[in-house]
Amino acid sequence: MTFKELGLAEPILKALKEEGYTNPTPIQEQSIPILLKGKDLLGVAQTGTGKTAAFGIPILHHLYEGISLRQNKRKVKALIVTPTRELALQIGESLTAYGKYTGLRNTVIFGGVKQGKQVSALNQGVDILIATPGRLLDLMNQGFISFRDLKFVVLDEADQMLDMGFIHDIKKLIAALPPKRQSLFFSATMPKTIVELSRKMLGDFDRVTIKPEQATAEKVEQGVYFVSKGNKPNLLVHLLQQRPQDSVLVFSRTKHGANKIVKKLAQAAIKSAAIHGNKSQTARQKALGDFKDGILKVLVATDIAARGIDVEELSLVINYDLPNVSETYVHRIGRTGRASASGIALSFCMAEERPYLRDIEKLIKQEVPRLGEHPFMDDASEQEAPVKRQPQRSRNKPAAKNNGQSRNTSQNRNRNRNRNRNRNKNSSNTGSKE
Ligand code: AMP
Repeated sequence: MTFKELGLAEPILKALKEEGYTNPTPIQEQSIPILLKGKDLLGVAQTGTGKTAAFGIPILHHLYEGISLRQNKRKVKALIVTPTRELALQIGESLTAYGKYTGLRNTVIFGGVKQGKQVSALNQGVDILIATPGRLLDLMNQGFISFRDLKFVVLDEADQMLDMGFIHDIKKLIAALPPKRQSLFFSATMPKTIVELSRKMLGDFDRVTIKPEQATAEKVEQGVYFVSKGNKPNLLVHLLQQRPQDSVLVFSRTKHGANKIVKKLAQAAIKSAAIHGNKSQTARQKALGDFKDGILKVLVATDIAARGIDVEELSLVINYDLPNVSETYVHRIGRTGRASASGIALSFCMAEERPYLRDIEKLIKQEVPRLGEHPFMDDASEQEAPVKRQPQRSRNKPAAKNNGQSRNTSQNRNRNRNRNRNRNKNSSNTGSKE
């Protein structure tokens, strides 16, 4: 199957060709025909599967082909709601790329920054609005956004929005939407609340499920070091010093922990930056941009801040803390080795974390290889797991990725770098990407 066979408008095909996309990924192949027919869609899939193009391309196609631009040019006709600023910006960049030759304009709005630039972008007029829930409702309530011309709405990463406490905002939003619309609902997992929410939002819908590849766990080379809490910083410094050229994403369970790791690394002359919810938007974007560009080699992140972030050429993930939700482990390690099999994920496990390791191994149905001796072995590293387990949240599916097709071509890498470089510039297509 090719994009051409899907019957897409010429300007979109041209842009996809320039992006280096030859064949649709499974979610694109299944979703695009449904959406081109005008049906609602429930997509059970996560970022990394090519989801953005799966919903973005049909929307661009409909807007380009079906709706007279002269009549309602630059009125919000499509709304995409996504949980984090980083995801919103990524979606904006992708739609700008796919819609490059359509003449359609998108803008991105999110909280944590002053609203002035976003309001003026809205006032200039946009066809597609990409937003995080809080700022969206805020600007709606202030009267800066009208949904009179809205035809398409996408709720992206619904389960994460729920985890982040956005459920009431989302319900308010759904109530404010015009009834005649095409609705798309995406979630990686489908707990009861999400099923109920999807029923509220969707009309006559088709469902597409993209199973997380078991392969994620098999594809990524994994290993675990048993290490005491006190020696985790030393082991981290030791490992990073051995791989100065690698791009490394370090996961910390807490924001405070992430800051502490950055300080420790600085003491060892290793430059790193932390991204988490307490950092300013500018600091987060700068850290992420520098990391994607390869200027910054080590990024320390909490799970919420890192979710969905797409970093090409990420060679190593280090779980400084093991997550107590096993699916989070699969999600984290899926950041590396995305297109090739060369990714490595190393985990630090102190005595208290051994129950988490056992849960992870149960989920991935394989043992994480023990990496044996390291220079910071002590009695505490050897100690067998005594401690209380925290209850796991129930999740239905592993949040793995990698269902997308290979996108590690040098063309793709260069394109991503260029996009990242332009991240902080205002472009005519994306009014507010600071
Ligand atoms: P997403 O799940 O939308 O975040 O996409 C994950 C990655 O896959 C992004 O880097 C996209 O540029 C890339 N991608 C999406 N669709 C395709 C495709 N058909 N061919 C190659 N790469 C793609």
